[in-house]
Amino acid sequence: MTNRKATHFDTTQRRFVDRPPKPGDVALPVLEGIVSTAEADLAWAAEDFGRVVRHRPLAVVRAASRRDIGAIQRFARDHDLPVVPRAQGHSTQGQAQAPGGIVLDLNHLNTIHHIADDLITVDAGATWRQVVTASLAHGATPPVLTDHLDLSVGGTLSVGGLGGASHHHGAQTDNVLELDVITPDGTTHTCSPTQHADLFDAVRAGYGRHGVIVQATLRLIPAPAHTRTYRLRYHRLTDLLADQRRLVDQQRFDYLEGQAKLDDSGAWTYLLDAAHHFTPPARPDDTRLLAELPARTAEVTDTTYWDFLNRLADDIALLRGIGAWQSPHPWSNFLLPDDRIEDLVATTLSEVDRPSLGDSGVVLLYPIPRGKLRTPQLHLPATPTVFLFSLLRAAPTDPPDALGRMVEHNGRTEARVTSAGGTTYLGDVQAAAPKPPASLL
Ligand SMILES: Cc1cc2nc3c(=O)[nH]c(=O)nc-3n(C[C@H](O)[C@H](O)[C@H](O)COP(=O)(O)OP(=O)(O)OC[C@H]3O[C@@H](n4cnc5c(N)ncnc54)[C@H](O)[C@@H]3O)c2cc1C
Repeated sequence: MTNRKATHFDTTQRRFVDRPPKPGDVALPVLEGIVSTAEADLAWAAEDFGRVVRHRPLAVVRAASRRDIGAIQRFARDHDLPVVPRAQGHSTQGQAQAPGGIVLDLNHLNTIHHIADDLITVDAGATWRQVVTASLAHGATPPVLTDHLDLSVGGTLSVGGLGGASHHHGAQTDNVLELDVITPDGTTHTCSPTQHADLFDAVRAGYGRHGVIVQATLRLIPAPAHTRTYRLRYHRLTDLLADQRRLVDQQRFDYLEGQAKLDDSGAWTYLLDAAHHFTPPARPDDTRLLAELPARTAEVTDTTYWDFLNRLADDIALLRGIGAWQSPHPWSNFLLPDDRIEDLVATTLSEVDRPSLGDSGVVLLYPIPRGKLRTPQLHLPATPTVFLFSLLRAAPTDPPDALGRMVEHNGRTEARVTSAGGTTYLGDVQAAAPKPPASLL
């Protein structure tokens, strides 16, 4: 198929077409960007990082301006077509796909508009790498960053955005000062905790179903110059969890995560990853930071703050190089209640081995005080501390049923987690089904 720029929508066949109009065709709004039905664009929009779910849209709209977004939203509403925003496509369960509808590509709307000591205003298609690059040049940083920086601002604000600083600052959605949102009727609203607060609450962690975030004003805090990282090893899950809880209570580190790792014998061991940021002449006090922890196992590394934020870059380059970054990623992410964490994690991990995790698979496990997570659409367990538990699997092509078995185990794990009071994170598309905010009804 050749590249195709659609000019009309055939309301009888419900497809976008490029031809002299026939009865039943309606002209598309004039856009600065394009409405594409090119094979390559539809294939792009049907794929995400997960490579598990694939739904082709009817068209891809490459938006070049806010006006384009409003015009296409209005057109889609008039013709009952779903519009799903998409940026970096790092979803793993088709969250940015639009079966029978339009995928709205926001990647070209990525300008950094304004930066001050304590805030930055950016287009939602900007990546966090762009935000950090601009803010560090200004001596400031977003308080919470995801482990990977090549995610869009709109993409993570539409799911939550958790990281090792969430135990201090909550989700990225908790650190937004103001949003410009184009709602499905094509109008633009500025919303914040004090203006159109119900829209502000609906779009944060709203999976793009309540409107398109076009611009975000994000909170910044002073950036440190350096980071000292500490990696501690545990044989017992109980000990890791006890130390993580204590560190969260004391807010001892600036960053706190953890992992479960399979050793060569196939047994699970555990890592606590913590970091302390500093700007000389201040220095980290290792004795205080490592008190009552298994300090003899500590791997201690000093980096610049930027290298710390960009710490996954080398691993990702390696995975890309061997083709593993492009393989299917049947990921599942959960928020677990503290009162059931140990049995949920232990039972789940007892069912996972190297083949069912994948060679480059990773298991994340870290706590966040519930009170720090203040985004209403983020579904949380009821306990005062919740744990992010992520099975970040990578499926090989051989054996051919590997992917299906991983997906099946994710389903069983989700049933176990939800019946124990846990919630899913990043996959809750159904829970975010369209429900317009009251102020817009
Ligand atoms: C390697 C990797 C590392 C990750 N690390 C973390 C992590 O540390 N912490 C964490 O919390 N998450 C993490 N994630 C998950 C990630 O935050 C989400 O998948 C996020 O949605 C990806 O952003 P994106 O730009 O790729 O969004 P897309 O996949 O393009 O879209 C995701 C969702 O957001 C919606 N959306 C996108 N842009 C907009 C917009 N402007 N307005 C409204 N809705 C919009 C889409 O419709 C869709 O529902 C990671 C994912 C990967 C692949």
